[in-house]
Amino acid sequence: MGISRILIANRGEIALRIHRAAHEMGIETVAVHSTADSEAMHVRLADHAVCIGPPPASESYLNHAAIISAAEVAQCDAIHPGYGFLSENAKFAEIVEAHDIKWIGPKPEHIVTMGDKVEAKRTAGALGLPLVPGSDGAISDPAEAARIAEDIGYPVIIKAASGGGGRGMKVCEGPDTLASLMQQAGNEAKSAFGDATVYLEKYLGNPRHIEFQVFGDGNGNAIHLGERDCSLQRRHQKVLEEAPSPVLSSEDRHRMGEVCADAMRKMAYRGAGTIEFLWENGEFFFIEMNTRLQVEHPVTEMITGVDLVREQIRVADGKPLSVGQEEIAFSGHAIECRINAEDPFTFAPSPGKVTHYHPAGGMHVRVDSGLYAGYSIPPYYDSMIAKLIVYGRNREGCIMRLRRALEEMVIEGVKHSVPLHQELLQQDDVLNGDYSIKWLEEWLAEREG
Ligand code: ADP
Repeated sequence: MGISRILIANRGEIALRIHRAAHEMGIETVAVHSTADSEAMHVRLADHAVCIGPPPASESYLNHAAIISAAEVAQCDAIHPGYGFLSENAKFAEIVEAHDIKWIGPKPEHIVTMGDKVEAKRTAGALGLPLVPGSDGAISDPAEAARIAEDIGYPVIIKAASGGGGRGMKVCEGPDTLASLMQQAGNEAKSAFGDATVYLEKYLGNPRHIEFQVFGDGNGNAIHLGERDCSLQRRHQKVLEEAPSPVLSSEDRHRMGEVCADAMRKMAYRGAGTIEFLWENGEFFFIEMNTRLQVEHPVTEMITGVDLVREQIRVADGKPLSVGQEEIAFSGHAIECRINAEDPFTFAPSPGKVTHYHPAGGMHVRVDSGLYAGYSIPPYYDSMIAKLIVYGRNREGCIMRLRRALEEMVIEGVKHSVPLHQELLQQDDVLNGDYSIKWLEEWLAEREG
């Protein structure tokens, strides 16, 4: 018997995304929600809903016992964690599997390996992925760190082994501040992640963030679905993503994609994954692997036509991938704008009641969102309220359509990021695809004047 009812252990647009894929496969869905989300769209659309706790995520969306009980009571045979929350929690994945419920995600041991950035780098290196030069693993002795930093050259970046979400990183410009910054980074990592382990990397001056989507069946078969360029970031948070990257040639794509897919074959990786690189002057440097579906996955879906959530469910159900590498063709261009409930330029959060809502429509326009008029955006969770994803036959056409779609978006009652995206899409550097991970912050600073 295959999967017939999935518990969606998430909220917002990604809960809807999973519900949609499940229903298109004839699979029932069970939503879980906090008391703050009882009126949420994912709760309305799911076949069944279970309230699992009060607003704080630690007592609801991260509550292992409540979610497992809900799955048992509602007789779910699988759990999809979405992204964030429990998606990269190996312990939870193990508990799910111990209850004879299918985990729609990677094998728990792979979540563990890639969740520790030092271990992840070591593994990636052994699998043949190019690394950022740096310390060979964790480092605690300042004298040894100084030797390594001298060797790779300043500036260097001190990173927390357990870091994530762009936190736990310190850039060090020279030997004078190395020991104190290491100390600081360790202390901060200890309090934020409960683990003081840090490591050193060369700090790349002006790289792009380019990541490859990979997919494995868990039995040694794996494919890649090309790259996404996520260089437009603020405080290490992605703002706009596109596929393909404006700087990669088709040869680069096939070569690096094959290196990534091959690494996944050797690991017998299961499910969706993303291998993140910094890219500078034509060279790739592995930084980390995310063992989950990513927010920006739709741009890959738009240019390949592959439904990544459907593939995740199939693979969790023990089925092979529905496409082989030779069937993956890249066509056209896609861009995603993340729309957050916040001031478009100061980024101050703006939760509250949405009084009017009208999503953009038309050919090749996709809006993934749980918004509706009258919905109150709760203040407790991530500020992302919608993703606007647009496809075009080429990058220029995609940008023209995206501008048109942004004009159509109506979200009233709260502040949101549409005006930021509209302004970004007027900038020459963005239009030319000529930007690095530094670009957005520099532009914002200049705009502030
Ligand atoms: P996290 O898990 O917190 O997202 P990552 O290792 O993926 O951490 O890094 C997040 C971001 O930090 C990257 O996208 C990039 O903007 C910046 N960054 C990370 N490592 C380096 C480096 N060696 N040089 C320059 N920038 C870096």
